[in-house]
Amino acid sequence: MADLEIRDLTVEVEGTEILHGVDIDVNKGETHALMGPNGSGKSTLAYAIMGHPNYALTGGSITCKGEDVTAMTPDERARLGMFLAMQYPTEVPGVSLTNFLRQSVSTVRGEDVPVRQFMKELREQFADIGMDEKFLQRNINEGFSGGEKKRFEILQMAMLKPEIAVLDETDSGLDIDAVRIVAEGVNRLSGPDLGTLIITHYTRILRYITPDKVHVMYEGRIVQSGGRDLADELEEKGYEHLKASA
Ligand code: ADP
Ligand code: MG
Ligand code: MG
Repeated sequence: MADLEIRDLTVEVEGTEILHGVDIDVNKGETHALMGPNGSGKSTLAYAIMGHPNYALTGGSITCKGEDVTAMTPDERARLGMFLAMQYPTEVPGVSLTNFLRQSVSTVRGEDVPVRQFMKELREQFADIGMDEKFLQRNINEGFSGGEKKRFEILQMAMLKPEIAVLDETDSGLDIDAVRIVAEGVNRLSGPDLGTLIITHYTRILRYITPDKVHVMYEGRIVQSGGRDLADELEEKGYEHLKASA
């Protein structure tokens, strides 16, 4: 059984079925790219994996490390080793990045992490990500650029050390800088203990990462899966040809 196993998943949003039977397996040690044009259902899948209440699972299953997660809260999923960047609020006025991170690390580890130890770990990661130390005092995502939001996601991921990470692009103009930051972060954190599903409609991300597998979503279905060859094909042809073959 795969570490993250999605089987014949159907998802409804406000009474409309958006995903019509999606299968994906992600194992630790693998990097997968889920791609596809805007509106194809990629974020719907990410929300369903994270357990967002507006996304109703009407069929199929989501299991992580053999456990059915569909009835779990986002916190429970995180404790199991799942990282879903979007489970965190986009703007929390008055909560510093440092406090927010320490809280999520404590939640995931199931114990209060002492401030001194936490700050030591944070500083180590910080240096690697190339963030400014001043960033630590800022409030969560308040006035962050697209690139800063992505750096923060990668910082969270580095601190939480998940086994399965799902990274969805932000809806509003993910710039090329942000694409590169995510790719570099994933490359740096990748290893035998981490499986990653990177969700994007930018075929350009494939210039920065070499996924083990590429999946193409179109109108709520995975219509193609493949390896590096498929990535090259997408880079060249984009998604236009999918219309014809759908
Ligand atoms: P992608 O992330 O691939 O761009 P989405 O998952 O955001 O695609 O959207 C897939 C489809 O679901 C689109 O047709 C979109 O209009 C619809 N959709 C997504 N979220 C909602 C929502 N909250 N209410 C109604 N329709 C939605
Ligand atoms: Mg979209
Ligand atoms: Mg999306």
